[in-house]
Order: sequence, then structure tokens, then C-alpha cells
Amino acid sequence: MKIFIDGKYLDERDAKISVFDHGLLYGDGIFEGIRAYNGRVFKLKQHIDRLFYSAKAILLEIPMSHAELMKATVATIRANKLRDCYVRLIVTRGIGTLGLNPRSCKKPSVIIIAGKIQVYPPELYARGMDIVTVPTVRNLHSALNPAIKSLNYLNNILAKIEANNAGVEEAVMLNGEGFVAECTADNLFIVKNGELFTPPLSAGALYGITRQTVIELAQEAGLKVSEPNLTRYDLFNADECFLTGTGAEIMPVIKIDGRVIGSGKPGVLTRKLVEDYHALTKSSGEPI
Ligand code: PMP
Repeated sequence: MKIFIDGKYLDERDAKISVFDHGLLYGDGIFEGIRAYNGRVFKLKQHIDRLFYSAKAILLEIPMSHAELMKATVATIRANKLRDCYVRLIVTRGIGTLGLNPRSCKKPSVIIIAGKIQVYPPELYARGMDIVTVPTVRNLHSALNPAIKSLNYLNNILAKIEANNAGVEEAVMLNGEGFVAECTADNLFIVKNGELFTPPLSAGALYGITRQTVIELAQEAGLKVSEPNLTRYDLFNADECFLTGTGAEIMPVIKIDGRVIGSGKPGVLTRKLVEDYHALTKSSGEPI
């Protein structure tokens, strides 16, 4: 495997970063998870845009331009002779002293890894997933804004551990006010009376690229989509529920907190959106 680090393509065993990198010492950095399907990088521009927004929010100057990052992402996939893959693009604050002040970090590092991902067992896509609400609340905007895709994922990891302890794969995270925010690595949607609902970004959700794609696909199919604050009551009374994410794609949810959602099977609209999403991933994107 060839890994891009600061302009060089290194073999896996040589692809190393310093123990003084503040990405490691403090989780000071940002990342993106990107997919390629059928020889094309899906929604590449949107991912690089979001990376730059995350960078701006944490005052991190990426030492490459938007166009250079797009090119380097495609080139890393090509160097590994891949057509279908998952790409992890990381920008760390770079090497500094042991103190947390980012002023000691002279140059951010850019890392691009093209590999594989299987976030959930394949059979769950046909059966649907059980999820639970967990006690760990989503980061507050006023503390660490959930829109920043930072290397500091402990908030989500704690929620994931709570899901693991409950014997399920994913956790619903509420915000400080008790409204549904999102899951640990996915956005959440419900269907009620033929309409789609997903929490507003202000509720504490990441600006999910799959979320946006699903909203567009639903609207193209003539479905109404709205973004009201949602409570657990709304989830329990939904006809259908599903999660969205680059890694997960679209995952039907059939049980929340032990309560059966809708018919207890992946819903009709969920299955249609899955079909439309797969068709789009295969037919669009930046050629490799
Ligand atoms: N929420 C969180 C917390 C995430 O980390 C992710 C990405 N895995 C998502 C939502 C989904 O975002 P996207 O569709 O852009 O992958």
C-alpha cells in the first residue's frame, strides 16, 4: 500500500508520523472519509470543501490548495491501483513541543490513505439495525462544534462504547436539550406519512455529505424533506428510520431502545433511497 504523506508516496511500513505531532498528542487536526466506486471518487469536491471549513474553524492552514488536494486524493487511489475504496484524508497540526500551544507547530501534515472499509456487517443492510439512545450527549456548539470533523472523536467513541455495552452497533446521541442530534458516525432520518425528516444541523449533527445526497435524491423523487427538531417520541412513532454516512451508506433501522420501528423491517422508501443511492454512486464522481 502506498500512503501519501506531505507530498511523498511511502510504503506502508515507512508511512510514519512523529510522536510530537499534535494530531497524536492532542487530537489537533481534521479529517475526511471519502469513497470511490467503480473508478470514480464520489462527491470529492464536497469532501474537500468540508475539510477546508473544518480547517477554518480550528485556524489550521492546510499547506495545499483545494485543487492540489483533489489531485492528490485521486493520485493516491491510482497509485494503489484501486477502483472501489475508502479514503482517509487527514490534516494534523504538525510537529510541535509537548505543550498544547499550536504556535509551536510550524507546518501541518497532510496524510492520505486509500484502503477498504466495512463499518457494519453486510447482513444488517437486509435485516435492519437495532440502535439505542445513549447517555453521552453530543458535543455542544459552544464547546466543540459538531460540524468540525476533528481528530478529537472521544465524544462519539464514548457513545459507541455505550452502544457496544448495550449489545448494538450504533447509538443515537441527543444534544444538551434532549433533541436528537445524530449517531456516532452517521446522520439519522425518519419517514412519517410519506415524508422525510432529519434533525437540523443546529441540533448538533455533522454536515453529512450522504445526508445531503439523500435529501436531494428524496426531493428528486418528489418526497417532502424537512429538518425539525426531533425527539425520541418522533423516532418511536416513525414509519421508517435509517442512518446515512460515507462508510455506512444507507442503513435501515428497525428497533430503537427495544421498540420496534414501523413494520420492524426495512421500509419501502428506505429501500428506494438505497437503490437510488447505489445507482448514483456508480455513475457519478471524479474519474480516477
Ligand atoms: N456524523 C458523524 C459524527 C460522522 O463522523 C459522519 C462521517 N462518518 C457522519 C455523520 C456522516 O457524514 P458523511 O455522510 O459526510 O460521511
